[in-house]
Amino acid sequence: MTAPVPFLRPQLPPLADVQRYYQAAEDARFYSNGGPCERLLRERLADYLDGPICIPVNNATSGIIVTMLAATHRAGTRDRPLVITPSYTFVATAGSLVALGFRPLFVDVDADGWQLDPAALERVLDTHGHEVAAVLATHTFGVPPAADVQARWVAACARHDVPLVLDVAAGFGAVDAAGARTGAGDQTHVFSFHATKPFAIGEGGMIATRDAELARHCDGIRSFGFLQGRVAALPGINAKLDELHAGVALTVLDGYADILAARRDTAEYYRLHLEPAGFRFQAGSTGGTWQAGYLQAPDPATRTALLAAGRAAGVGITAYYERPLHRHPAYAHAVADGELPVTEALAAAALALPMANDLTDAERGRVVDVVLETAKGS
Ligand SMILES: *Cc1c(COP(=O)(O)O)cnc(C)c1O
Repeated sequence: MTAPVPFLRPQLPPLADVQRYYQAAEDARFYSNGGPCERLLRERLADYLDGPICIPVNNATSGIIVTMLAATHRAGTRDRPLVITPSYTFVATAGSLVALGFRPLFVDVDADGWQLDPAALERVLDTHGHEVAAVLATHTFGVPPAADVQARWVAACARHDVPLVLDVAAGFGAVDAAGARTGAGDQTHVFSFHATKPFAIGEGGMIATRDAELARHCDGIRSFGFLQGRVAALPGINAKLDELHAGVALTVLDGYADILAARRDTAEYYRLHLEPAGFRFQAGSTGGTWQAGYLQAPDPATRTALLAAGRAAGVGITAYYERPLHRHPAYAHAVADGELPVTEALAAAALALPMANDLTDAERGRVVDVVLETAKGS
């Protein structure tokens, strides 16, 4: 039997390469709280994104918590009950909100971009605006939405004086149709550097913002609420990135162009072979980072058949997002803006194909063979 093709095959840089950066921390005997690796990482990330303030954090989930605390504190909306967010996302998006005592208000996404539907957002803000503390939008699967979609999110939030935070977890290195990198714009973005994300360091993440005052608050909240000296001016947590992980991030950044190119190449291979067979890809995804090979099966029955065929063939075909947040027990009692029909339809046909920095031609060929053979027969 041929070797299995795993769904993901995460890859961090060799420790020997990391050591070239980490040596500075060892020399300084400075292992967290803003040592030499973290300071250099802030500069390199800001260069990569062309100027925002970049605050490393220990993962995106705590990064969202920090940013939501800072943004709602600043806007004076911390005591409001609701935060608008999509249901078609990873559980951490809503988990961060519930940890802060907010109740998610789930709105639907659009059928082509799989992104928060701006018309639904506008309508819900018009009806619930005074109860809404913030909007936590996502870039679904790290793919930037069309420029007019995000512009409408921004305008709707501004009209209601509600802060907008973007969970762009998988989107480090993504580019929009105009070629702009996610995180380079004026909004506040939270990225994940988890081992399974394209920019993989183990556990880690980053907040990127051009709002200097918000950045100061985020920086403080991630370090026990200390804004100046050891006085907790704000309620804080500990979400700092340690020197070893900062050293890993510096190392990954050096080789990141090749990682993105390899993933995009595999994704284009999938697109070339599967689009003609009725599989649908996310609008805007050519500029994505491809944490996995996300696509939509022609129909739910084919999706079911593919999951079984993948299991039988030892090919890691899986489904994201198979279960939208409003159907997880933990979030079943959140508020939903109606039946979320697009979310339900996407979830029923969602697929995710194997992805890795080093997926071989033979491996991706096998994935496509299994998918096409199964789709033909169902
Ligand atoms: C991965 C992911 C997260 C969580 O990131 P961590 O760094 O693992 O905390 C949050 N939101 C989305 C949309 C994700 O894909």
